[in-house]
Amino acid sequence: ARLRQGLSRTRERLGGGIADLVLGRRSIDALTVEEIETLLLGADAGVEATTALVDDLNDRLARHELADGEAVLAALKERMLKLLAPCEVPAPVFTARPHVILMAGVNGAGKTTTIGKLAQRLKSEGKQVVLAAGDTFRAAAVEQLKVWGERLGVPVISQQPGADPAAVIYDALLAARSRGADVVIADTSGRLHTQAGLMDELRKIRRVMGKFDPAAPHETLLVLDAGNGQNALVQARQFNEAIGVTGLVLTKLDGTAKGGVVLAIASQLGLPIRFIGVGEKADDLRPFVAQDFVEALLS
Ligand code: GDP
Repeated sequence: ARLRQGLSRTRERLGGGIADLVLGRRSIDALTVEEIETLLLGADAGVEATTALVDDLNDRLARHELADGEAVLAALKERMLKLLAPCEVPAPVFTARPHVILMAGVNGAGKTTTIGKLAQRLKSEGKQVVLAAGDTFRAAAVEQLKVWGERLGVPVISQQPGADPAAVIYDALLAARSRGADVVIADTSGRLHTQAGLMDELRKIRRVMGKFDPAAPHETLLVLDAGNGQNALVQARQFNEAIGVTGLVLTKLDGTAKGGVVLAIASQLGLPIRFIGVGEKADDLRPFVAQDFVEALLS
């Protein structure tokens, strides 16, 4: 129910729009499929995913498989699920101690909030968490992380503003090891990715993590604002090229009617979607489950 509510803006526009089009119709024709295409593109599903979905509908239409609106919705669900299923991955099992998670993303994407929510989730699973305040560029980011740390009773390792982020994070890794912590979540700066400096900084952080544990970071999660639409895809490609992203976190799906971008991301990036953010509360950060997502969107 929470997921349905979180996706309500996209559901009303896309799912509702499609339902309004097809339900109660005596027959479905090519024109109907064209209108569905317009709705998908309007929800930022992108040309590639939209084409895949529309081609499938047209094939079924040609085979006389789309007798009514229910059949259209069922076909769309099935094809969307096929598109999204590869993005659903099981939560990684922590084999290293500490398990190291590197968080990246441009300012405002929701990185700090996501770190707080993730820390809360891991803590509730009984894991001992340490946070590393690696965004030394913004004093406010360190403060924001400390607020989460205090709220959750989780240590935050930080230094003064302007300190070397890689050094802060290395300190946090050592602190986590000496405390026997299970997991370190490292915040990083999110100055605009067009500044080559940011990618250099992230690469350096990776190298330093690798000195601590050759397998670290065990996860590199990129936080993207779903409301950024196609721009989110550009960001994902750039970060992935520079630092090798292992999973995406798509935030603020509750704030947009363009949640179709999840379909674009699935068809164009081939990266796992670890979490989606559908609100400001801690349990609004949800593991991505393709079936649930499709159901919340289309029913
Ligand atoms: P950062 O600059 O990437 O660290 O971004 P913040 O974590 O400070 O988040 C920016 C704003 O987005 C804050 O006001 C958050 O409360 C908000 N935010 C983050 N995730 C979500 C989400 O899933 N839904 C909504 N509605 N707001 C979110």
